[in-house]
Amino acid sequence: MSDSACPQRIAYLSQLTKGGDLEQLRIQALKDIGEALNSQLYIAHADREYRHNRAGVYIPIETRIVEYKYHVYNMIYPGTRGHYNKPTGKIILQEGKWCIQTIIHESLHSVSILSNEEYVQEGDRIQSFKESLTEFLTGLVLFRKYNDSCFHSWKIGNYDQWCNVSYKSGVQTLCALGKWISSREFVELYLWKPSDRWTDHWHRFSNAIKQVFPTFEDNYETWKQYDFMTEFGNELVNKLGREFRRMRNLFNYSFVLP
Ligand SMILES: [Zn+2]
Repeated sequence: MSDSACPQRIAYLSQLTKGGDLEQLRIQALKDIGEALNSQLYIAHADREYRHNRAGVYIPIETRIVEYKYHVYNMIYPGTRGHYNKPTGKIILQEGKWCIQTIIHESLHSVSILSNEEYVQEGDRIQSFKESLTEFLTGLVLFRKYNDSCFHSWKIGNYDQWCNVSYKSGVQTLCALGKWISSREFVELYLWKPSDRWTDHWHRFSNAIKQVFPTFEDNYETWKQYDFMTEFGNELVNKLGREFRRMRNLFNYSFVLP
């Protein structure tokens, strides 16, 4: 790992100075997501204005993405690169500490069923799974749209830390599962469509696993009381054994089914 900047990043950020703006990058990210996941996207949450009085921050309804300098950002969301504020539908970035994958990750949150008002609490209860799934799909978008550039630095982590895969252990588990379960199932689980219900999404996903691995035991309610991603991952490792562990270590998106 080094501190050098990735060449793609310089080109990407230069769009900002060439008359582009953050909103254009957000729209591009949504376009990339829709194409890569071959899905129609629905923003899962109403837009509202955002206020953080202590940090002196106000974001009007029509602004959906902003960047703040270190000291302001860290008053709001310390220790992160970017944040999706579900109650207001805003993407908030730390100046200079984000890149394509950050905008894709946060934009994915904006179209996820777990960002919908009705399921925000449920999403928080399975936080580790929600974030791992978001980052796994970020990787899938990079793999399908930025294969000759960002995907590799994201996966290997050979540039600045904000290029790297986050929630890596969970992402590796989901990537391994993708060798047996179609990536369509992950997409259907994650994306919001009006009038969908989270429990239906989860049951469909869980049944897709059982189709391939009949001994898989879905302990959703129990896992929720612990770290969901760890518990879910342990069940997969226990039931699927060595080949699954091998795939986990390989961490290879080429094996993920269409
Ligand atoms: Zn996230």
